[in-house]
Amino acid sequence: MLKFCLGVAVCLTLLLAPQLHAQQYPTKVITLMVPFAAGGPTDTVARLVAKGMGDSLKQQIIVENVGGAGGTIAPARVAKAAPDGYTILIHHIGMSTAPALYRKLPYNPLNDFEHIGLVNDTPMTLIARKDFPAKDFKELIAYVKTNKEKINLANAGLGAASHLCGMLFMTAIQTDVTTVPYGGTAPAMKDLLGGQVDIMCDQTTNTTSQIKGGAVKVYAVTTKTRVASLPNVPTMHEAGLPNFEIVIWHGLYAPKGTPKPVIDQLTKALQVAIKDATVKQRFADLGAESVVEKRATPEAHKAFLKAEIDKWGPIIKKAGVYAD
Ligand code: ASP
Repeated sequence: MLKFCLGVAVCLTLLLAPQLHAQQYPTKVITLMVPFAAGGPTDTVARLVAKGMGDSLKQQIIVENVGGAGGTIAPARVAKAAPDGYTILIHHIGMSTAPALYRKLPYNPLNDFEHIGLVNDTPMTLIARKDFPAKDFKELIAYVKTNKEKINLANAGLGAASHLCGMLFMTAIQTDVTTVPYGGTAPAMKDLLGGQVDIMCDQTTNTTSQIKGGAVKVYAVTTKTRVASLPNVPTMHEAGLPNFEIVIWHGLYAPKGTPKPVIDQLTKALQVAIKDATVKQRFADLGAESVVEKRATPEAHKAFLKAEIDKWGPIIKKAGVYAD
């Protein structure tokens, strides 16, 4: 009988555990892992959203930058973290390109995570160091083609958005230049400003102030239509590369097995954060945009990620770019 009672007690504890967990969550600081260096575009979005979500959850969310390997180290860590809602990840389009780029990717973006919701959409810009000789996109293409041996294209490694954009640009103009990988586009920008590298494709969240301040040259944006915060910059399509379109999106992830009530709380906090007037204004100043609420859900996030994997996989395979 005693044995039976103990069994029931244990059973009850187990049954009640998820509810108690959700009621109490979050009782300690949450870590949001960023797969690139501090100060870059993913980090910028992460810090804005972490503040808004933390306020809503009444708990601090700290950002931890775990850069390297084109943004694949942080997801590998989060996939193996305790599924308790205290370690989460922000990542971008790289979650959909890495499966085609890496032959031995140590995580499955669809199956090894709980999807919390999409965060924002951001255009990219093709920029160059201030004294780069080409004055417009047409001249840029001609210059790159004739000087390809001496041109350095900066990116944040295989799997980064900057890598994808640079790779598609080189494919479109049928010219390969030397690529220089960094742990994020914040350090890459530093070298572009210093003239150590020549060109880079990066999100407006990292390039807008440098463009507006005249610290770098800009040739085109990668969206279908012009960007409101950079109205004079042509689209790649207008500038001469038809149908060249890349929009960078971010999403939030938790380790697989994180209890549903915890994911629900994180999703709700995300929805509050991206609707916050300060966050929206900051995004707008940087050329980015919060997603509409129905995209900031686990279901929409997972479905979109799957569609992006299906879209980019064949394009990357055709380009023949991969890491062993
Ligand atoms: N978003 C950048 C990229 O993928 C990296 C970063 O956030 O620093 O190129």
